[in-house]
Amino acid sequence: MSEILVLVEHVDGEIKKVTLELLTLARTLGEPSAVWAGPGYGDAAKAKLAEYGADKIYVADSDEVVNYVVAPKAELLARLVADKSPAAVLVASTVEGKEVAGRLAVKTDSGVITDAVGLGEGFVADQSIFGGGVNVRSRVTKGTPIVAVRPNSTAPVAAAGAGAEEKVEVAPSEAARAAKIVERVKEEKGARPELTEAAIVVSGGRGVGSAENFAIIEKLADSLGAAVGASRAATDAKWYPHQFQVGQTGKTVSPQLYIAAGISGAIQHRAGMQTSKTIIVVNKDPEAPIFEIADFGVVGDLFQVVPQLTEEIEKRK
Ligand SMILES: Cc1cc2nc3c(=O)[nH]c(=O)nc-3n(C[C@H](O)[C@H](O)[C@H](O)COP(=O)(O)OP(=O)(O)OC[C@H]3O[C@@H](n4cnc5c(N)ncnc54)[C@H](O)[C@@H]3O)c2cc1C
Repeated sequence: MSEILVLVEHVDGEIKKVTLELLTLARTLGEPSAVWAGPGYGDAAKAKLAEYGADKIYVADSDEVVNYVVAPKAELLARLVADKSPAAVLVASTVEGKEVAGRLAVKTDSGVITDAVGLGEGFVADQSIFGGGVNVRSRVTKGTPIVAVRPNSTAPVAAAGAGAEEKVEVAPSEAARAAKIVERVKEEKGARPELTEAAIVVSGGRGVGSAENFAIIEKLADSLGAAVGASRAATDAKWYPHQFQVGQTGKTVSPQLYIAAGISGAIQHRAGMQTSKTIIVVNKDPEAPIFEIADFGVVGDLFQVVPQLTEEIEKRK
């Protein structure tokens, strides 16, 4: 079986769920090798990666990797592609992952696929393109397939790998050192899961009506252990912070379950959520376009429906 490189996403050593998903996916196509970039590597990280099937772990845990935005990560992967000739490289289809993928494709003269929501034999990807307007199946035809896969595309399943470590020295090139990070400010992390990684997302739109009313959306989200999202109408009105906007100019989410309340379903909103596995809609207008992509829809007033739903879920806990 051939080697597949998986770039590990982590925050200060804590591995993100999407990496476990990518390892799970890579196992169906070859032998996964995790690529660790940046500080924070230790026994816990090693154990986690091996638990999800990493046969090898390439460790480049120098500060140099993270001091210069994404360029050193692309260089690291390019070097591994040259040295190891892997069958493919998988990264998370996050803002950073996609930039790494693009740079890596240029460096290795390879094709790249982003926003994949599935990957099968021959590295044929199910891909959501043109802002989610079109779904296609694509395959890289030149060089090493580089595929950026959206979080939540695969359920992570543990299956032990050897986890053999190989240290990789990193020396970013002069070009990679052209822009240096001079300060980092940590975003306050709430108790809810991160929006782009959450298995369940509950979003509110203009129909929610005010910042105070978003408490209804938050209560439903908390009853489900979900992240909260919002349409641009809601974030532009300052009812909910901008970082929670879902859509073309916001975050792209692909959860197992997406609940949209008081959202009409404009194409720009759909672009960020329509690859969700199951979509539930609450909207008082039966003609709202979001019903076109709904698996389940409730035509009703969200101020009646959402609290009842929350109550029912709480009762069943
Ligand atoms: C370049 C560009 C980029 C954009 N990027 C984004 C983006 O990233 N994300 C995004 O979301 N939008 C984006 N937009 C804006 C997008 O076009 C829409 O304007 C926006 O998504 C509308 O938000 P909404 O559905 O909440 O509001 P509306 O379209 O006003 O819909 C509100 C819905 O709530 C329903 N409603 C009202 N009251 C209730 C109630 N009590 N109970 C139940 N339902 C109720 C109504 O029936 C209606 O369907 C972008 C637009 C442009 C031009």
